[in-house]
Amino acid sequence: MDLLESHMILNLKSRLFDIIDPEKGLFNYDVLIEEMLGAIRSIMNAAEVNLYSCNEWSRRLVVESSTNRNFKNTFIPRKISCSEFEKLAQRNSVYRNHLPFPGFETDDLFLFICREENCFGLLTLKEAIPSSFEHFSDEFLKELSEQCGIFLIKIQSLTKIVTEKKRYKQLFRVTEKFHSSMKIDDVLGEIIYTLQEVYPTFTYYLLLSHDNNSHGDLPIKDLEYDSENIAAMQAYVTGTIQFEDSLQEKRSVLYAPLKGKQGVYGVLQVIAPDSLVFPKNEVEFIALLANTAGGALENAQLYQQSRKLIADLQLINETSKRLNSNLRLTEMMTYMSEQIINSFDAQEVGFIILFEDYEKYDVVKGSTSFFFTEPANQYIKYIKNKIQKEKDSLFIGDLNLQLEMTRERFRSIMAVPMVQSEKLKGFTLVMHREPYHFTFETFKLLQSLIHHSTLALTNSMLREELERMVVTDHLTKLYSRNYLDERIHLSMAEDEMGTFILIDIDNFKLINDTYGHQVGDEVLVQVANLILGNIRDTDIGARWGGEELAIYLPQISIETGALIAERLVKKVSENTNPPITISCGVSYWTSESGDTLKSLFKRADKALYIAKGTGKNKVVIQEEDTGLKV
Ligand code: GH3
Ligand code: MG
Ligand code: MG
Repeated sequence: MDLLESHMILNLKSRLFDIIDPEKGLFNYDVLIEEMLGAIRSIMNAAEVNLYSCNEWSRRLVVESSTNRNFKNTFIPRKISCSEFEKLAQRNSVYRNHLPFPGFETDDLFLFICREENCFGLLTLKEAIPSSFEHFSDEFLKELSEQCGIFLIKIQSLTKIVTEKKRYKQLFRVTEKFHSSMKIDDVLGEIIYTLQEVYPTFTYYLLLSHDNNSHGDLPIKDLEYDSENIAAMQAYVTGTIQFEDSLQEKRSVLYAPLKGKQGVYGVLQVIAPDSLVFPKNEVEFIALLANTAGGALENAQLYQQSRKLIADLQLINETSKRLNSNLRLTEMMTYMSEQIINSFDAQEVGFIILFEDYEKYDVVKGSTSFFFTEPANQYIKYIKNKIQKEKDSLFIGDLNLQLEMTRERFRSIMAVPMVQSEKLKGFTLVMHREPYHFTFETFKLLQSLIHHSTLALTNSMLREELERMVVTDHLTKLYSRNYLDERIHLSMAEDEMGTFILIDIDNFKLINDTYGHQVGDEVLVQVANLILGNIRDTDIGARWGGEELAIYLPQISIETGALIAERLVKKVSENTNPPITISCGVSYWTSESGDTLKSLFKRADKALYIAKGTGKNKVVIQEEDTGLKV
């Protein structure tokens, strides 16, 4: 190397040094390379300098930069593989006039850029003045490429630091977002958004397992077990990254599992067009992102699950509490069906009790109205037989598939048997018109709800049945409603007249709420005793139901009947503890009035309603269908 050449090298070094000037602000790899080529061109007095490098993604030699702007744009990739390029570079680092590749005919000098066995670039130079490169010594040219190599490595590592910094900033932002959101959709959206930002030319899909939610416009596909997509399934099952290259379609697909601590929640599919290999450090970043997402997805899912569990437990707890608070059967069943309709989004809820070796059945009051119509029988019978046979709950997604001959109105069906002391007492039937309307979780919840309620339900049914059979009411020792009905019926057939008094305790709910049910019951007994002390043996004092009582006075005129009622209202207001009052609705019949049991009751009820509406603690008489006397 002569003095001039040494001088040129020194000149190049100093120019390269100037290029990496932190004062210049933003660090841009492409601009730095351009400046390097510019420096070489001016020092060598060349017409054009180009830099080729081996592309990690396509494993081909591509043009990286050129001093000729047009050249870069019109460049048609010569299909030279990286391995061919490396082979040639190893043989010699300086080629003059000619390179054994097609497409380089117009260049005059070729310098391979290598560092420690590793060749990563090729400089090609065109002479400005013919044969002007000939006098440069090999030693000088080697030193020049050496210096370019040092420079390239330096800026490559600087660029790497800068991009990595950016990547990790993105990753940090994503992670932050993941941890601040418990919404699955937000997490999924953020993964897609970040990837699109980092690799805008790729296409992304999220393949999710067990997913039955809609996710707006997120690119989500189902991960199906019978999927032809073996690589996706492989990633899901093994929890490791999988690749799939398609030579024909000229694209490469990566599958990264969305992995949490407890399982894999889906697979991220990344499709890279026009490329056949995913570079290693990019794979690492995608894997890192997918793992973070898996963890976040797991958190969000656990959170949603726990919220659901809490809601389920609340439902069961609330229902049990209500059922154990001494409700009447109808109130209880009405409450249950309301709960089921609201919590399970059901359309019809029926409670069926079975008798006589399951031959007969009855629909319990409180079931939805459909169950009291003829078409319901078809469902009840079908389910009854199935439950008897299978002795287990039924979860039917589409009834049409089971009964091929008919088109059913209700296609989603859940049925849970009510079993007590190992005996089948009945079952609950929950239906919806849409097929596959109920989820399996809903079904499980219904099962536990019914299991928790069966005891209360059957007890209540039993109590109601007993009441029907028994003549006196257990609590008040008054006659039962059934007996009262029978006696009025008889009296209307045999006597000329009779008076009926319907009694309702005023603001009784308040007593229960203030003092508890126990005291409520005691007050009820006090009122019952006052009734018994104020009527004769031939009169009927009865428990009408709940906190409503009734008196029937056979052969008694309305005038006397009204007096008796007035007297009772006064006595109750003076002799109860805690003090309460009652309201009475009075009706009567004579042999001319043509009354039935029903109309008698109806009029008393109307009168009672008016008493309640006009201040309570009073008697209202229903004279005829029209007139009322307070
Ligand atoms: P009002 O009749 O003046 O309009 O008000 P109320 O507070 O009495 O209202 P309502 O008649 O609707 O409520 C009756 C309450 O009595 C509701 C029910 O839980 C309670 N109840 C019914 N039967 C019994 C019973 O046998 N024992 C007790 N302790 N409470 C009962
Ligand atoms: Mg009442
Ligand atoms: Mg009342």
